[in-house]
Amino acid sequence: MSNQYVSRVVETVKKRYPGEAEFHQAVAEVLESLTPVIEKNKVIEELGILERITEPERQIIFRVPWVDDAGKVQVNRGLRVQYNSALGPYKGGIRFHPSVNTSIIKFLGFEQIFKNSLTGLMMGGGKGGADFDPKGKSDNEVMRFCQSFMTELYRHIDADTDVPAGDIGVGGREIGFMFGQYKRIKNIFHGVLTGKGLLYGGSLARTEATGYGTVYFCNEMLKDRQSCIEGKKVVISGSGNVAIYATEKAMSLGAKVVALSDSSGYIYDAEGIKLDLVKRLKEIERKRISEYVKEVKSAKYTEGCSGIWTIPCDIALPCATQNELDGNSAQTLVKNGCIAVAEGANMPSTPDAVKVFLDAKISFGPGKAANAGGVATSGLEMAQNSQRLSWTFDEVDAKLHQIMVNIHATAKNAAEEYNTPGNLVNGANIAGFLKVANTMMLHGV
Ligand code: NDP
Repeated sequence: MSNQYVSRVVETVKKRYPGEAEFHQAVAEVLESLTPVIEKNKVIEELGILERITEPERQIIFRVPWVDDAGKVQVNRGLRVQYNSALGPYKGGIRFHPSVNTSIIKFLGFEQIFKNSLTGLMMGGGKGGADFDPKGKSDNEVMRFCQSFMTELYRHIDADTDVPAGDIGVGGREIGFMFGQYKRIKNIFHGVLTGKGLLYGGSLARTEATGYGTVYFCNEMLKDRQSCIEGKKVVISGSGNVAIYATEKAMSLGAKVVALSDSSGYIYDAEGIKLDLVKRLKEIERKRISEYVKEVKSAKYTEGCSGIWTIPCDIALPCATQNELDGNSAQTLVKNGCIAVAEGANMPSTPDAVKVFLDAKISFGPGKAANAGGVATSGLEMAQNSQRLSWTFDEVDAKLHQIMVNIHATAKNAAEEYNTPGNLVNGANIAGFLKVANTMMLHGV
């Protein structure tokens, strides 16, 4: 259904960046949903907006050498993609995971442009990372790696230029080590990173924000069906930052969360997940989710992660990683009565899965809208840092809640305006895009 201009740009991206499957997937998904906007506004093609928005403004690739505890030199590859600065300083997380490559960082950076636009805050889009695996490393190894990573990255970032945050494998510990190194090298103390510790400029509610925001967004979708999350059975994938705080918020609003996972397998607890235990295992002891069943005898652990979607539920929140939920899993969820899916992770549903959800007309919240609470609260952290003030947890949480309500309304209205009512994939892409595109036009070529 896409028009010629869209097809041409998608083909150019594929030719220019061969082998970058995740990046191609994200570009095709966004651009195809923009077709009605492009047909209505010919100036988008005349000014080459799609060609410009798909090409990052800048990409930095660098060597990250470090010495492990055995005294052996290790080398990883670091990346930062500064994608689009039309709306503000580049903003987006840093991911440490062995799978990190240019395709994954570019897909994440591209999505980030539209997500950040949807928040209503002044933030451009970027993303970074390294193919470093913090799992199984000592705190000292992680520190030496983070210091080496920042020894190059510091040249390219600044509180008004590019403000990285956490993502998979990068939490408070890693942000602390990177901030310490930045400060040491630059001799400047400012909000160059978000997700910082509360003792040195972090925002209350930032840790919780992505998970809480995903649940707020889900509740808004449910309101449109004259329903709410209270009393619902929820399955959540992952057991990291996003999954843990989505669980916490869903439970506090009266839902029962029955399953969580990691990249090895999933746990099912029909009585409802004991969140204090999960927090201890994952946040403090850094153990595998399988340890849960050693302490909760009635719970069951199953190897392999995709089986989690066979558990019957009312609501599914994929909060682990990209392409973790395929077309077959989506069909199983729908067949089992699932009425809403909100993506806490970035692009966790494959294109086939998204089609199943949209065709079945269940509520579907795409990641760039549903998980935007994390970066929105990072934006609030930047605002507090600029003021040299800290807001209370309730103040930040109230702002986060309002931002998620607004994002839902914005995506819903755009979907209606462009004749696909209820399709929040189209709505989020269109609304996020228009603000960036209109600004790029004002800035000139
Ligand atoms: P964490 O590193 O805290 O947790 C990631 C979780 O996902 C872990 O449980 C991990 O298990 C699991 N996981 C990773 N890879 C796979 C895989 N291939 N299959 C199944 N499970 C897997 O990361 P976050 O919670 O921060 O991030 C989760 C998702 O949310 C990502 O897509 C991220 O981009 C997105 N996101 C995060 C934001 C944030 O504020 N943190 C903001 C917006 C989006 P294991 O320990 O076995 O690797």
